[in-house]
Amino acid sequence: MAPRRSPLLTFSSMELQSAESSTVFLILAPHPSLLYVLVDFHLLTLRQPIIFLIHLVVSYTLTFMALSALIVCLARDPGPANAPPSRLEGADGEGEEVGLREALMPDNDFSSPGKWCRKCWAPRAERTHHCSICNRCILKMDHHCPWIGAKCIGHRTYPAFVHFLCCITLLSLYVAVLAIHALWYAFNNPFAVHEFTPVHELGLAFAGCIFSLLVGSFAAYHIYLTSTNQTTLENITPFMLLRHLPPLPRSGHSLSDPPLEPELSFAQRRIVKDAHGQIFLYDVGFRKNWAQVFGWRRKYGWLHRLWCGGASLGDGKTFPRNPRSEGMLAKLAKELVKVDSDR
Ligand SMILES: [Zn+2]
Ligand SMILES: [Zn+2]
Repeated sequence: MAPRRSPLLTFSSMELQSAESSTVFLILAPHPSLLYVLVDFHLLTLRQPIIFLIHLVVSYTLTFMALSALIVCLARDPGPANAPPSRLEGADGEGEEVGLREALMPDNDFSSPGKWCRKCWAPRAERTHHCSICNRCILKMDHHCPWIGAKCIGHRTYPAFVHFLCCITLLSLYVAVLAIHALWYAFNNPFAVHEFTPVHELGLAFAGCIFSLLVGSFAAYHIYLTSTNQTTLENITPFMLLRHLPPLPRSGHSLSDPPLEPELSFAQRRIVKDAHGQIFLYDVGFRKNWAQVFGWRRKYGWLHRLWCGGASLGDGKTFPRNPRSEGMLAKLAKELVKVDSDR
């Protein structure tokens, strides 16, 4: 009988191959040059063994942390939307206890928009989305990432993903500064360095600057999203707000309840887009937003966060709402109806 595989750990050879061919290669490719520069420039030319050791430890610690976060993103299921809750909450030991009110009042109003997935034919929790590439629902889906094993980033892998981006940005910045300093020395002392060293330094400086800008901009974007408690999907799709609108008046307009994107006029679309820039549905304050993603319950949880990012807290199905958002949504609904009745 074939051994039963855990659905929470999907580490297929295909996923590993795609990651190896792109991301892992990009992380490891500059290391021969980095080692060469560290040994030739810092150890043999400058004769600074302590500085050499510091650079070696910092760069390899950041590489190790980036790779361990990448392994978490690859090996962990991003958010099994339809797995039994007991498995999910017991899997990482970070699950929240279910309150008495939630236990007694299950949210089973599947007729509401967004509460039922027509492709999986199963209930869909809040912030859960169906990924058409993975062909399944993902809890708090952020986006589908082709660079990380062609997998979705969701509730259970988002902290590891942000951790990965931050580690790669810091590593690229560190290598860029180190290489530019070594290159500056080589320009000023052309006879003191080996003839191949500046070539390695130039390559490292170029790669370091490019990756700092590219990955750094993604890291900055996800730091902003974490600070305002948004996912990438929520941030780039303003019309997702429509399914959260309160019930519209029964008459006096021609809109569906909730309104559908294609039936909105140009003016109504502009109103929704403007409101999307102001209504952060799940923003419960900077500290609580970060605690939702990077908080910990265990005594040494911070070590786990530092090591590989880990998983988000909670069950990924319920999220506290921004108390001001209800009023803003009601105002948006009123404006849409008013514009529609004026047409
Ligand atoms: Zn689905
Ligand atoms: Zn996906």
